[in-house]
Amino acid sequence: MTTALIVDDKEENLYYLQALMSGNGYQVQTAKHGAEALVKARQSPPDIVISDLLMPVMDGYTLLRHWKVDPNLRKIPFLVYTATYTEAEDERLALSLGADAFILKPAEPEDFIARVTEVMTKVAAGTPLQETSPVAGEKQLLKLYSETLIRKLEEKTIQLEEANRELQLDIARRKEAEDKIEQLAFYDPLTGLPNRRLMNDRLKHCFASGSREQKYGALLFIDLDNFKILNDTKGHNVGDQLLIMVADRLRCSVREGDTVARLGGDEFVIILENLNTHAEHAATMAEAIGEKCLLALNQPYLLLKQEYIGSASIGVSLFKNQELSAEELLRRADAAMYQAKNTGRNTLRFYDPAMQASLEAKMDLENDLRHGLANHQFRLYYQPQVNQAGEIIGSEVLIRWLSPEKGLVAPLHFIPLAEETGLILPMGKWVLETACDQLKAWEQDPVTAKLQLAVNVSACQLHQDKFIEHVLETLINKNINPNLLKLELTESMVLEDIEAVITKMHALRDAGVRFSMDDFGTGYSSLSYLTQLPLSQLKIDQSFVRNIGVKHGDGVIVQTIIGMARNLGMEVIAEGVETEEQYNFLKANGCSLFQGYLFGKPMPLDEFEVSQKK
Ligand code: C2E
Ligand code: MG
Ligand code: MG
Repeated sequence: MTTALIVDDKEENLYYLQALMSGNGYQVQTAKHGAEALVKARQSPPDIVISDLLMPVMDGYTLLRHWKVDPNLRKIPFLVYTATYTEAEDERLALSLGADAFILKPAEPEDFIARVTEVMTKVAAGTPLQETSPVAGEKQLLKLYSETLIRKLEEKTIQLEEANRELQLDIARRKEAEDKIEQLAFYDPLTGLPNRRLMNDRLKHCFASGSREQKYGALLFIDLDNFKILNDTKGHNVGDQLLIMVADRLRCSVREGDTVARLGGDEFVIILENLNTHAEHAATMAEAIGEKCLLALNQPYLLLKQEYIGSASIGVSLFKNQELSAEELLRRADAAMYQAKNTGRNTLRFYDPAMQASLEAKMDLENDLRHGLANHQFRLYYQPQVNQAGEIIGSEVLIRWLSPEKGLVAPLHFIPLAEETGLILPMGKWVLETACDQLKAWEQDPVTAKLQLAVNVSACQLHQDKFIEHVLETLINKNINPNLLKLELTESMVLEDIEAVITKMHALRDAGVRFSMDDFGTGYSSLSYLTQLPLSQLKIDQSFVRNIGVKHGDGVIVQTIIGMARNLGMEVIAEGVETEEQYNFLKANGCSLFQGYLFGKPMPLDEFEVSQKK
């Protein structure tokens, strides 16, 4: 088999030529430079050598010179295969040095093989291959040789410099892209502050450094007061402007090295690292910085050329070491922030463990409530409502939770949480549907057909978008007489968005549903709104009823409410009637309906039905 030695410093060239030659029946040896080629050729002389020119350690020209003076190698055909060919001089030099042929990279595979075969044949036949006139004289040859090498090296240097410049540019571009990605991933685009992700990283970092120094740090959770109102009334652009200004003010209120981050919306977080080894001192320092922030945020803002006064509520939680997870720390500061909101806003509160305990209890309760709702643990109790003659005209339905663990739970223990978590919506839906089912069931019996039911409605139910649709849908689905259904609202929930509420009430009133104003007298009673609402009943709050005969002023209030209801053409019902004295006083003053323990406590349906038939 014909053997070939291929010399090239580039791996890919070697690979390509080796494949090509082997594919054409050659047995191939390879070398990375002239020196290696010489060693290999002397050990086992090939039938042909194909060599590159520019190579490290020993270039192709030098290899050729050695080749042609070696008695064992000089007859073996030497082919130069190179891309560095730029001038006729190169070829002349190579041929002068004794190369048998010169092939330019890249050559088509067929041309390449054809040329190799041609060289092999001609050399075997003793035919001279050189067409170019060789350079005369050793001295001239050497001169040409060194000039060529220098020129080639210069060319290579220029190429390398260019490649290097490209590379530098590429690195700069890549760095720019990386910076941009980092900016997007870790910073809030609006304010330029670190985002939640970076804040978490920083927290982890200061947990680690704090544990070395044993110092307390603090996390401040900042929530702007009434931001939503500004956003809703002035638009998001204005809201954004405010957030940018707030970010600047917060940044200016802390030390260099402290982190100010934006969690999203109007929530910001400040991480104060390494405050003090004593918790009290650390707390004092955190409080001072928090107060500074509050003050900064209290300065007027210029929005749409108008002055805007803003404020914030801040919750603070201290931390040391990795006692707490980042989430837990945030949760605590968040809980403290809510405490600050509840104490009137524009203030700062520290997290305390008692607060945490109640928070956890609340979370448990919420889970239990969800579970209870899914597992039908709620019941409706019925409390009779009677007229002046003592006849039951209907009842108020009051929800109870029959919890397997806690027993019968009164609504005051779970309604507020259900309202806070939105669970009141499915719960309220169930109450309304159950009450309507009951009205339907009573419809069949003349004794019960006229009974009315009063259903309590929570603020979030009333304010929910689909409230009217939902009530109307229930009325239609259950096919009941809407006049028998009374919805109990309270003053505060009506006043929250009075225009919208009036529209909703009218829509339901037109469908025949009636409304009662529950706990009347305890709210911001105002005659002007009373006349606007399509109410059919006022329900005197039990606190006034309780004081009948005890506190003269309350007796007068009761009389006034009854008089007012009459003048407005409304029914009036007294709730919490426990004694004959109260009952008589109310009757004497013209109250038409009554509800209270005197007539019956809230009771399960079967008991109510029994008492009603008596
Ligand atoms: P409310 O609507 O003002 O209901 C009257 C409350 O007074 C009931 O408490 C009732 O048991 C109690 N009560 C009635 N008569 C007397 C009396 O003579 N003396 C005394 N001391 N109390 C009397 P309850 O059932 O614990 O309900 C408390 C509140 O929970 C209700 O006040 C209502 O606001 C809310 N609630 C009850 N059921 C529901 C419901 O299904 N949905 C909604 N959203 N709220 C409900
Ligand atoms: Mg009520
Ligand atoms: Mg009430």
